[in-house]
Amino acid sequence: MEDLKSIIRDVPDFPKKGILFKDITTLLADAKSFQRMVDLLANRYIGEKIDKVVGVEARGFIIGAALAYKLGAGIVLVRKPGKLPSETFRKSYALEYGTDTLEIHTDAIQKGERVLIADDLLATGGTMAAVVDMVNELGGEIFECCFMAELEFLEGKKRLPEGKTFSLLKF
Ligand code: 5GP
Repeated sequence: MEDLKSIIRDVPDFPKKGILFKDITTLLADAKSFQRMVDLLANRYIGEKIDKVVGVEARGFIIGAALAYKLGAGIVLVRKPGKLPSETFRKSYALEYGTDTLEIHTDAIQKGERVLIADDLLATGGTMAAVVDMVNELGGEIFECCFMAELEFLEGKKRLPEGKTFSLLKF
């Protein structure tokens, strides 16, 4: 796993001063690393009954779509406000400064469907906690929240359903 970790690029002071951003585009752009990352995540879920994979805008779409394809599941998009064309359910959540909002189509998940949620990186957990609420609100059963990477020192896991978080690469 160290080789996958080391290909992720650290970008200091992005998106603002004092933040060390984990730039995963370097991993995505490397054919072997991308394939290996998707396979390692997918192998965890192959054989499980998963109806939908939810991908979180925007990097979560890439991982979510690859997983959905491998698992034979549908891919559901959680997007920034105003992007989804049909009826949506929206959820606002607190950021360090201000709030953010995400939307999902109300008919994207049926009651009782088993859902895997995918995003690139778990930091404080605010984004994923909001997505968990949205999936619960629509009646989906959360199988797991999966991430390519996690910043463990931020303890985002604590904000997510117990025992239902998996991250491939830990920093
Ligand atoms: P959280 O809500 O857990 O604090 O932040 C996670 C969300 O912000 C994810 O959707 C993720 O894409 C983005 N994010 C926050 N920090 C980073 C980072 O260092 N690298 C990447 N790739 N995404 C980040």
